[in-house]
Amino acid sequence: MVSKQEIFNALSKVIDPISNKDIISQAFLKTLEVDGANVQIELELLPQHSSVHQQDLKQQIVSTLQELSEDLIFNISFSKKQVAPPKKANPLPNVKNIVAVASGKGGVGKSTVTSNLAVALAKQGYSVGYLDADIYGPSGPTMFGVESERPRVLQHEGKNLLVPVEKHGVKIMSMGFLVEETQAVVWRGSMATSALRQFITDCEWGELDYMLIDLPPGTSDIHLTLVQTLPLTGAIIVTTPQKVAVADAKRGLSMFQQDKINVPVLGIVENMAYFTPAELPNNKYYIFGEDGGRELAIQNGVELLGQIPIVQSIRESGDNGTPEVANNNKLTSEAFENLASSVIGSIESRNQGLPATEIVEITRS
Ligand code: ADP
Repeated sequence: MVSKQEIFNALSKVIDPISNKDIISQAFLKTLEVDGANVQIELELLPQHSSVHQQDLKQQIVSTLQELSEDLIFNISFSKKQVAPPKKANPLPNVKNIVAVASGKGGVGKSTVTSNLAVALAKQGYSVGYLDADIYGPSGPTMFGVESERPRVLQHEGKNLLVPVEKHGVKIMSMGFLVEETQAVVWRGSMATSALRQFITDCEWGELDYMLIDLPPGTSDIHLTLVQTLPLTGAIIVTTPQKVAVADAKRGLSMFQQDKINVPVLGIVENMAYFTPAELPNNKYYIFGEDGGRELAIQNGVELLGQIPIVQSIRESGDNGTPEVANNNKLTSEAFENLASSVIGSIESRNQGLPATEIVEITRS
């Protein structure tokens, strides 16, 4: 009688015709049952193994095992290994946290919040990037006061890399640097998405603690391209308190939480939460309604990261190209600095509690 061990040892002489290595070291042997003279063998092969390869393996097994005993009866079957598609590589491995800033509607202050948050993080000593992905209305260059600047081009390993413009301690890239605003609006979607991909893969971002991505309002191809290109640490949703804005923000939030996209929502920023006259800083007027952003956060089980007042100097500083937080105006800087601290805290707990986000493979169903 031939033992299972002897048969197992003999099978290590059977050579896989594709790799030229033995089938045991290749881990193809899935089942080996020996019952008297009956030998049952199942090999789990790769998708590239054809029926010709199977035939070859069968012949080798039979002739090898018949050397042990002429009386063996074989039942040899084959199955295919399920090979998972390789995971997409992260094009920005040196960026620790990548945060998308989104809004349901335009004009709620998403770019104002993103640029001030970027400067507030930089003021705390972090290295920060700001990617203006609002291809159709890139206001980043205006808000940072760098409209007339252009990214340098650097040669690296035979590839042209764009070097972000730096201002207020933040590395800035924007569609606004590459095209006139009037041109961008007539771009086809595919041109916009390939421009975004280029900003990610062909840009010398270096090592960053935080990269903030200022998205176009609503949901768009840009959003889909982004989650298909980068593993986002999370998303921040900016809204104003009025009902109509909150309803749109809710749609933006749901997009990130969809099963197929699965980007953690770090929290909500309620912008223009109340009006405060500079000369009466303790007076608050809820001109757009009260706590719309807070309620959205509670209803969706996410954090309210901050409530930013509507203050004339925030608008003026945005128009003048110095994010308000860089002006050290106590009333307004504090709101953005507190926001930065909440964002850091929310990212930390997200990183401790959840696995890294995966780049989305397929988003259209
Ligand atoms: P979005 O990026 O959502 O389209 P913006 O950031 O461009 O919105 O803001 C729209 C306008 O509102 C800008 O003129 C900006 O200066 C102004 N703004 C935004 N937030 C505030 C605020 N908290 N206080 C005063 N003005 C603000």
